[in-house]
Amino acid sequence: MVFKILIAVVACVVIVRLGLFVIRALATPAPSPDEGELRRVNLKYQCTVCGAQVRMTKAGEDLPPPPRHCMEDMDLIPTME
Ligand SMILES: [Zn+2]
Repeated sequence: MVFKILIAVVACVVIVRLGLFVIRALATPAPSPDEGELRRVNLKYQCTVCGAQVRMTKAGEDLPPPPRHCMEDMDLIPTME
């Protein structure tokens, strides 16, 4: 009887440890690129489905792939600078 309780306690501790390990792994944010690797951009995109507009101010490249909205690629709107 005592042996069974001991096994249950050990199993409980192992499960909690495993759970915490998984949660910590998920909570760790992905490494973001250095500030120096980002360029200032001024791009405006519009969703072709619902018309929502988005402005992109920083990107890793001059013309990054368009973001998606409503499961579709957004259209790049020419902006005057
Ligand atoms: Zn949309």
